[in-house]
Amino acid sequence: MKLLHSGKVRDVYLDGDDLVLVASDRLSIYDVVLPTAVPDKGALLTQLSLWWFEQLTDLVPHHVISATDVPAEFAGRAVRCRRLEMLPVECIARGYLAGLGLREYQAHGSVSGVELPPGLVEGSKLPSPIFTPTTKAPVGEHDEFMSFGEVEALIGAGRAAQVRDLTLAVYARGAEKAAAQGLLLADTKLEFGLDPSGTVVLADEVLTSDSSRYWPADRWAPGGPQFSFDKQFVRDWSAGLDWDRTPPGPEVPAEVVEATRARYIEVYERLTAQEWRSSP
Ligand code: ATP
Ligand code: MG
Repeated sequence: MKLLHSGKVRDVYLDGDDLVLVASDRLSIYDVVLPTAVPDKGALLTQLSLWWFEQLTDLVPHHVISATDVPAEFAGRAVRCRRLEMLPVECIARGYLAGLGLREYQAHGSVSGVELPPGLVEGSKLPSPIFTPTTKAPVGEHDEFMSFGEVEALIGAGRAAQVRDLTLAVYARGAEKAAAQGLLLADTKLEFGLDPSGTVVLADEVLTSDSSRYWPADRWAPGGPQFSFDKQFVRDWSAGLDWDRTPPGPEVPAEVVEATRARYIEVYERLTAQEWRSSP
C-alpha cells in the first residue's frame, strides 16, 4: 500500500483502486496534534463509524468496502473504501449552538449565512437544524464558513441542494438514534464524494465523536459549556495551561487521557448497545 496522505488523526493509503483509511490513537485539539495518544481511540472511532454507516444505508450510499480486508497491523482501526472524487466542502449540520458555530453567531447573528434568532446562548437548541458548510482548508489552515450560495458556485446548485438535504437527513437520523440512548447530537460534520457514475456517496468517517458533538441529554444546560463525549474534555483541561494553541501541543496527563478514553467508550457503548472489547 502506498501512503497518500497523513492527516492529523488518520492515514490514507492507496491499495489498487481502493483507499484504506487508518485511524490512529492520536488526538488533536485546535488543529494541533498532541504528543500523547489515547489508547483504543482509533479502533473506537472506526467501529462507531462502521456501525453508523450501516444505520444510514437507506438514506445514502456509503464508501465502505470492507472492515476486515485490511493489513493485520491495522486490524480494527482501518476501513477499505471506494476511492471517490471528494466534494470540496465540509458538510456540517447543527441542531445546537457550540464551538465555531457559537462564535460565528456571536459575531454575526448568523452561521454560514443562516440567520438565527437573537438571544441564543452556548448550548441553545436551534429552532430547527441548519446546514453550515465550510471550506476544506489545506493542512495548517482553518476551515471557513461558506454560504449556501458559495457552495452552489463551487459544486453546482443541484449538488449543493443534494448534499444539504443529505446532511440534514443524516443529522436527523443520528439525532433520533442518539436521543433514544439519552444523548443529544449537537452537530456533526460529513464529507461526500462522487463515484465514477456521478452518484453522491457518503465518505470519510460518520457520526463519530471526532466528527460530532454528543452531549448527555440529562446534563444539558444552555448558557455555558456542555458536558461532552469528545475531546472537549481535553480542550477544557488545556484552557488552564499557558499554551497559545500552536504546535507543539502539551503532554496530556494520564488521568485526562483515561477520562477521555472512558468518554469515547461510553458513547460507543451507548449508541451501539454493545460492550467495548479492545482488540487483543
Ligand atoms: P483532519 O483532522 O485534518 O480532518 P484527519 O486525521 O481526519 O485530519 P484527513 O486529513 O481528514 O485526516 O484524512 C482523511 C482524508 O481522506 C480526507 O481528506 C478525506 O476527504 C479523504 N477521504 C475520505 N474518504 C474518502 C474516499 N472515499 N475517497 C477519497 N478520499 C476520501
Ligand atoms: Mg478530516
